Amino acid sequence: MIQRNVIAFRKLREWAGRRHSVETTFAVGDSARLADLCRSSGLAERLHASWSFESGLEGFPLVRVRAAGALKLKCQRCLAPVRLPVEVDSRLTIVAGENEIREVASPYDTVVAGPGGLALGTILEDEILTSLPLAPVHDGCTVSGEAETHSSPGASRPLAGLGALLRQK
Ligand SMILES: [Zn+2]
Repeated sequence: MIQRNVIAFRKLREWAGRRHSVETTFAVGDSARLADLCRSSGLAERLHASWSFESGLEGFPLVRVRAAGALKLKCQRCLAPVRLPVEVDSRLTIVAGENEIREVASPYDTVVAGPGGLALGTILEDEILTSLPLAPVHDGCTVSGEAETHSSPGASRPLAGLGALLRQK
């Protein structure tokens, strides 16, 4: 299962101290956000994910988020399913609140745990979604231009909702 439970910042700090890690394998259908992208092409793919904690340079917990596997999306040229490898390997500094972001050297690789804590599944989905190409196509797909000109706008843009998905926090 994708990790839905929210982990308190205090616990994340403790995990970082003893270099704890969490591993899981889940089906695309277990993640509503990934399933939305793959609904028309297939939900059977499975992904392997892990979160490894350590203490970062600034004393904040750091998590290395990794994901491997594949997703089936719709090719933006021929509209047939295209299987895209997923390979995520990101290091994120975890801070407890917004005003701590300025203490971190690389603010773009920072996640805010918030008062409740951090949902490991959510940061994983964020990293997977941002790693995907905006317009997935088959390698050397031979049908060119047809999709844009002959199909309805909604049908040819399976990633149209991606921006909105990424803003859902
Ligand atoms: Zn194609």
